[in-house]
Amino acid sequence: MSKQDVIVRNLTALTHSRTFETSVKGWKVKNIISLPKREMQACELCGTRFREGARIQHAKTAATVLVGGTCLETILRSQFPPKFEVSEYRERTFAVLRKAYGNLIDPGNWTRWLVEHAPKRLAQPVAELISFGTVLSDKELKALIRFHDSKRLFRRTALLPGAQALAKVLGRQIPPFITLDQARKIETAFASKPARVQVPVVARDYAMRVLQPAVSSDPELRRLYGSLTPLEQRALNGLAALDERAALDGTPLCSAEVAALWPAPRDGPMFVWNPKIGLGFVGLDDHLGNDKAYVWLWRSARYQKCVYSMQYWLGIVGCSEIGVQTIEEDAFGRAERIRAD
Ligand SMILES: [Zn+2]
Repeated sequence: MSKQDVIVRNLTALTHSRTFETSVKGWKVKNIISLPKREMQACELCGTRFREGARIQHAKTAATVLVGGTCLETILRSQFPPKFEVSEYRERTFAVLRKAYGNLIDPGNWTRWLVEHAPKRLAQPVAELISFGTVLSDKELKALIRFHDSKRLFRRTALLPGAQALAKVLGRQIPPFITLDQARKIETAFASKPARVQVPVVARDYAMRVLQPAVSSDPELRRLYGSLTPLEQRALNGLAALDERAALDGTPLCSAEVAALWPAPRDGPMFVWNPKIGLGFVGLDDHLGNDKAYVWLWRSARYQKCVYSMQYWLGIVGCSEIGVQTIEEDAFGRAERIRAD
C-alpha cells in the first residue's frame, strides 16, 4: 500500500467520508506540537516524523490526530479560499512584520516564538504559519502580533538602549525585562515630556554608555576628545548617535538645512562629518594635501582607504550653540527604535 493510500484510508475512516476531498475538510487545529531538538513525533496519518505540527480535531466525528508536514499542509489548504495565492499572502505577511518590527525581530524569529508560546486559541493561525509562512487573514495576523507584543519579554536594553535615562526622565523604574507594548508606552510617555527635560538626560546617558567607551579605546581619539570644548564634545556625542541611527535606517544624519549651520573642517587631527556619509575622524598623518584626506568612519571602526575631498565635509571645531542644539534635539529628543503602530 502506498503512502498516499494510507493517508486516504486513515482520513476517510476518521471522518466517515467516502472521498479524500471531503475527508480533508472540517478539521480544526486544537493545539500546536513543538518538540525540542532531536525529539520527533510520527504523523498519525502517514508515519512521517516531524518536530513542528499540530493536534487537529474533526468537527463531526470528534476524532483527533497528530499531524505534521504535508498532511497538515493538505488539510489546512482545503480551508483556503478558492483563489488564495500563498506566495502573495506570504509577501504581505512579511511586509506587515517588517513594518511592525523593523530590524528588531525578523519574521522567522517571530514565527518561532509564536510556535513555542502561542495559546490554544491561536493554534489555527500558528499552524498556518508553520505550513505556509503566512496566515489566512489580516485579522489573524493582527491577533498574533497583539499576543506577541503583549507577552514576549525582551531585555529592556534591547528595546530601549537608554532605559536608565528614560527611567530618570519619567521618574519611574523600568523592569529588566519588558514587552514591546510596555516599551511603546514608555516611549509615548517620554515623547510627551518637553525637549529641555528629555535631551540633557538622554545625551548624558549616550555619552557614558556609547561615546566615551568608544573614544577611550583609542589613544589618538582620546587625546583629541580631551582637547574639545564642552560644546564640541556635546556635538560629537549627538553626531555619533545620529550616525548610529543613520546606519540602521540607511538615511542621512540630518537635513541639508541643519548641516548648513556647521563650519568647514580645519587642519590637523579632527572629527569631521558629512550628512550623507557619516561621522569620521582625520588623524595627524591622514592629510594628503590639496584638500584631500583619509577619513576614518565612525560606523565602520576602521580606516577607509579611499580619499575624501574635505570641501564636502563639516567640522565640529568652532560649531555654534544653535547648531549643536538642533543636532541634540534630533538625536536625543525622540523615541528610540521601536515603531508604535
Ligand atoms: Zn503525515
